[in-house]
Amino acid sequence: MSYNWCHGPECHTQETQSRVRGSGDNKVLRTRRIRVYKPEEPHIYDFFCNQSCLMDFMREHITSVIAIAPRREALETPIKVVKEKYESQRYRYTDNGYQPQSYQATRTTISLKNS
Ligand SMILES: [Zn+2]
Repeated sequence: MSYNWCHGPECHTQETQSRVRGSGDNKVLRTRRIRVYKPEEPHIYDFFCNQSCLMDFMREHITSVIAIAPRREALETPIKVVKEKYESQRYRYTDNGYQPQSYQATRTTISLKNS
């Protein structure tokens, strides 16, 4: 079994029982240790004990993280847009209470071009 220390920059300042270490007058709040079940398949929560620590890290290091793979142009996915009319029903209030009424509805379907 392998372990990582949480990478959250404020992890060791959160006042929870799970972070208390030491004895007597030498107690500390310590960064949480995370058990890694599959080091060969890294998961984001192998490096952060919770979402708060993940977002603290991202806020502090966002410029460096983006510099790894900057996006300078928009990406595009070719699609097909199909609009089709179909018969549907809705309830309308009439003198006889709510009654179903037919109407022509439009369904728009977006699908990937090569599927
Ligand atoms: Zn943490």
